[in-house]
Amino acid sequence: MTWQHDYSERIMKSAALPSAELVRGEGAYVWDSEGTKYLDFLSGIAVNSLGHAHPVLVEAVSRQIATLAHVSNYFATPPQLELAERLRRLSGAGERGRVYFANSGAEAIEAAIKLARRTGRPRILSLQNSFHGRTMGALSLTGKASLREAFEPLLPNVSHLESTIEALEKAMGPDVAALIVEPIKGEAGVIDLPAGYLAAAREITASHGALLIIDEIQTGAGRTGEWFGFQHDGIVPDAIVAAKGIGGGVPIGALVTFGEASDLLIAGQHGSTFGGNPLVTAASNAVLGEIERAGLVENAARRGEELNAAIAGLPLVDEVRGKGLLIGVGLSSPVASAVVTEAAARGLIINAPNDSSIRLAPPLIIGDAEVAEFIEKFASALLASASKGTS
Ligand SMILES: *Cc1c(COP(=O)(O)O)cnc(C)c1O
Repeated sequence: MTWQHDYSERIMKSAALPSAELVRGEGAYVWDSEGTKYLDFLSGIAVNSLGHAHPVLVEAVSRQIATLAHVSNYFATPPQLELAERLRRLSGAGERGRVYFANSGAEAIEAAIKLARRTGRPRILSLQNSFHGRTMGALSLTGKASLREAFEPLLPNVSHLESTIEALEKAMGPDVAALIVEPIKGEAGVIDLPAGYLAAAREITASHGALLIIDEIQTGAGRTGEWFGFQHDGIVPDAIVAAKGIGGGVPIGALVTFGEASDLLIAGQHGSTFGGNPLVTAASNAVLGEIERAGLVENAARRGEELNAAIAGLPLVDEVRGKGLLIGVGLSSPVASAVVTEAAARGLIINAPNDSSIRLAPPLIIGDAEVAEFIEKFASALLASASKGTS
């Protein structure tokens, strides 16, 4: 039997049939079950920060699982405390910061919703076209009606705003607990916020006593050329949510609070069996430690600029969005899925978040060779799709 058959028989119908069955990875490359090699410019959607099978991550996970994998939150462990300190330092939350560990992005968003509830105010603001996850609370914040509609009623008192400072000013009031925003809307097609939005949002939320929560799930772990996306804007948020890239492939999420927001959740108000267990926190320490040691935040900024400049001149390319190694390519015609197919046929994995956008999120380890190979394959895939689009 083929894997396609097994997949369509065994996996819940909520997922579309995948395009390949992957069996192995190394560095920026993966191999499928037919032996085809692909350059992976998606990294499991901004997850595999160090690429595949990185020796530092392999060693850390192997050592930790042979030492102590899980103990429940009745007990502290050294990797958990080390990761909490690392996240406080890298985020700038510092000594007044606190960390809650979850197992995924959506779950960390749920913790942020509970944090917002603790202000005693009922309303939460998020943005249209945002993505915050698929659990019921996170879905309530997600700004895409098509994802929400089948599951209503969701959380009440959530408003999805236009991404303008005026819309925020108009929506703000004494009933608002929090505004939650992505620095770059990844799932929407890698859409940047308007210039100055986060700085204005910081002022407006602070002056109304509302929390500013930044969803760094896709933009964190150095991907945008800073440790976290909000750091490009020089603001201090009340909380950030991280997941995806901080684990480098192991499931982990985290809510990091800054300042007074660190006192909102009190004993007994939240918890998770797996959250922050020594296995995943040891893995995350290894990933973030290696990003730091190898200068991969700087590499993300530099490779992002190189890619940006090279992509801008390719056929079908209308605009290049995003920062660092989270790149959105706006196409001049709605052929994104054809581009993804043509790329795969050339041994390149990319992703189409919508009809006219390509998302690139390669591992942060890419160098000259991967950039050159990508440009050659992507240019060829664009050219093939452009000729199809006009015929
Ligand atoms: C992926 C993502 C989520 C959800 O994370 P999961 O781990 O899939 O639950 C939330 N917000 C953003 C910005 C994301 O990219």
